[in-house]
Amino acid sequence: MSVETADTLVVGGGQAGVAMSEHLSKAGVPHLVLERSRIAERWRSQRWDSLVANGPAWHDRFPGMEFPNFDPDGFPTKEAVADYFEAYARQIGAPIRCGIEVKSVERHVGRYGFRVETSHGVIEAQNVVAATGAFQVPVVPNLIANASGVAQMHSTKYRNPSQLPEGAVLVIGAGSSGTQIAEELLLAGRRVYLSVGRHDRPPRAYRGRDFCWWLGVLGKWDAETPGPGTEHVTIAVSGARGGYTIDFRRLAARGMTLLGRTVSFDGTRLSFSEDLAQNLARGDVNYMALLDEADDYVARNGIDLPADPEARRIEPEPDCVAKPILSLNLGQAGIRTIIWATGFSSDYSWLKMDIFDEHGRPKHQRGVSAERGIYFLGLPWQSRRGSSFIWGVWHDAKHLADRISTQRKYDEYRPSSQNGQ
Ligand SMILES: Cc1cc2nc3c(=O)[nH]c(=O)nc-3n(C[C@H](O)[C@H](O)[C@H](O)COP(=O)(O)OP(=O)(O)OC[C@H]3O[C@@H](n4cnc5c(N)ncnc54)[C@H](O)[C@@H]3O)c2cc1C
Repeated sequence: MSVETADTLVVGGGQAGVAMSEHLSKAGVPHLVLERSRIAERWRSQRWDSLVANGPAWHDRFPGMEFPNFDPDGFPTKEAVADYFEAYARQIGAPIRCGIEVKSVERHVGRYGFRVETSHGVIEAQNVVAATGAFQVPVVPNLIANASGVAQMHSTKYRNPSQLPEGAVLVIGAGSSGTQIAEELLLAGRRVYLSVGRHDRPPRAYRGRDFCWWLGVLGKWDAETPGPGTEHVTIAVSGARGGYTIDFRRLAARGMTLLGRTVSFDGTRLSFSEDLAQNLARGDVNYMALLDEADDYVARNGIDLPADPEARRIEPEPDCVAKPILSLNLGQAGIRTIIWATGFSSDYSWLKMDIFDEHGRPKHQRGVSAERGIYFLGLPWQSRRGSSFIWGVWHDAKHLADRISTQRKYDEYRPSSQNGQ
């Protein structure tokens, strides 16, 4: 029985898979992209209804296409982002097959290449690019095994306020997802508790420019490694309702109850760390440091941008910060739903190779793994801070396509004596 072959097989048809296809085509590398569902599926079905991109349309896109009919300074809806990648894939003629899941990839013994088992048969490939996403598997800490009468869900399952049972909601995790969901619930009239850990909270805009612009001109998207101690610090930003700076004190002033990091549950009461004030203070330091760097950049380069003293105003300490709640009876607080906005991990169990560290994370150099022919794309900090984001993955894909094309040249090389020259 004949087996289909592909030079380079890309697994995953999200933004990473589309970017990879563009660069492989430009490098003249024959390839095939397999997507188990639809192009950019995660934007369609694994995010809440009102989600918009965290960056403006002029920024959160690939160089080869603007968001059609969209204000470049606006924040595209999740559907617009998914439509964008579908349109982009059409524009570049990406060879994407949807509805095919890759089940396993195994190295051939005694020869180059891989046996790729899919839901629709076997493919033999010389190279495999894993573009299956950094935000794959919802992580829910094993803290609250069974709280009777309380619904629990990860942020990937949250859609909108009307989906939740009546009553108060506890959102655990105050990165972009947790904070945006908590604010939406507050606006919908819910009583909301938000458990806030360590975070960075850049200003949405400063001196008339979006923070995406500031991070660009200050070289921060291109930072190659996380600063000391910052690897797991979440960023709280929002493009919702035209975009606004996340300020936890303002959310508290509007009625949200802030809590420290959630630490344990005894069957009735939840306990929280005493770190709330410290987490807010740390977020402020990060926020102010960015304003200082921005001011310095403006002064050094003589740029004409309006002063923005209002951005430096820190709101008064709300009661829930001054007198933090360290223990909360879920029933008495009327909490009927817990939303875990606690992040994601990855699952590469389909890659049957010893190329992962003890935490299951790929061992790689800029996406090039130790196994010849296996590449990763879309990893956090793959080459720089921007790597797992829309604009960053495009540049990493370019690097990988260059590496694959270079490798193919070595493979194809034959001494001139063997070429009959
Ligand atoms: C809530 C949220 C909001 C975000 N907002 C922004 C933002 O505004 N701007 C920004 O730049 N970034 C944002 N990101 C980060 C990042 O851009 C997105 O997570 C993006 O979806 C990552 O794209 P990707 O192609 O790397 O992975 P994914 O979008 O996860 O795509 C991977 C694809 O692989 C497919 N797949 C997985 N396993 C297999 C398999 N075995 N076989 C075949 N197919 C498979 C999946 O179906 C999926 O379509 C956000 C992330 C989250 C979680």
